[in-house]
Amino acid sequence: MKVTDHIAQAKGTLISFEVLPPLKGKGIEALYKHLDPLMEFNPSFINVTYHRSEHVFKKRADGTFEKVVTRKRPGTESICGAIMNKYNVDTVPHLICGGFSVNETEDALINLRYLGIDNVLVLRGDAAKNESAFEPEPGGHKYASDLLKQVVNLNAGIYLEDELKGTHKTDFCIGVAGYPEKHFEAPNMESDLKYLKQKIDAGADYIITQMFFDNAKYYAFVKACREAGINVPIIPGLKPVTSKKQLTVLPKTFHIDLPADLSNEILKCKTDEEVEKVGEHWLLEQSRDLKKSGVPVLHYYTLGKPHVFVNVVRDL
Ligand code: FAD
Repeated sequence: MKVTDHIAQAKGTLISFEVLPPLKGKGIEALYKHLDPLMEFNPSFINVTYHRSEHVFKKRADGTFEKVVTRKRPGTESICGAIMNKYNVDTVPHLICGGFSVNETEDALINLRYLGIDNVLVLRGDAAKNESAFEPEPGGHKYASDLLKQVVNLNAGIYLEDELKGTHKTDFCIGVAGYPEKHFEAPNMESDLKYLKQKIDAGADYIITQMFFDNAKYYAFVKACREAGINVPIIPGLKPVTSKKQLTVLPKTFHIDLPADLSNEILKCKTDEEVEKVGEHWLLEQSRDLKKSGVPVLHYYTLGKPHVFVNVVRDL
């Protein structure tokens, strides 16, 4: 079922989770162990992230280095199928521009359709580790809006090979990313919102936000979106702080602020177990407030530590 249908049929705020595919070389069992305790909350859908391939240098026996391409977390499409099959829950694979040609994207979309997946979250992806700025794959898309147009075309039965006749129309519900604190490359919020609106006008059905720790930023973002004529559901993305290290890692990686009240509380903690308790309490308060304000879905980024989400969602 589509994310937008879940929202349309809901009587209150829904719950959803995001997970990562296992690292190459690991089985899927650890992912199931992570998801098992979360399933008591009947999530409406589960997102599975996409990880582009990277160049790494492998040392040869003679001491020289060889540049090899590797994908550390492969298998997003099949993991979505496996989760659907095991838990009977809808899944949302992330699709990215980075590292993909348009033909590979089309094949991925065809595979998703065969698996019975109704949703995709369309993203650009970040620069590869060896790039200083995002570089599209030769023959690939530059912006999420370009990838979005390919999905919209496929939904209209338009494939890359235009000689195909009587084609099957896919029917993907399409999500896109939004940034309450602005995407880090955008010169200002106005510009970022202009391109976000372009994605909605091109056919995106809803927005999921980057994580934020201050609900006022989410509310201001929703207001600015509505004023800009963006009227689709805006799903807040949420994550707890669970270690002291994250005080610097989260702002650096995701280009977001941590409120002073939260960072001061974390600085007082002597262990990461104490930090986890502070982070859990903050997430619960954020979730309560967002739920009270009537958000359509609370979407949790659950990398590691499923028990934190179990405690928060139970207390909600
Ligand atoms: P875009 O919408 O293409 O925007 C990128 C930048 O370009 C913005 O600054 C925008 O303002 C600007 N822009 C957009 N269109 C134009 C245009 N036509 N002309 C000029 N400028 C333009 N990354 C992964 O690799 N895998 C994942 O699974 C993943 N999941 C994510 C899930 C969520 C909910 C979020 C919020 C992010 C996720 N990301 C993921 C990270 C995401 O790929 C990065 O934030 C990336 O840098 C931007 O992606 P986007 O889809 O927002 O890009």
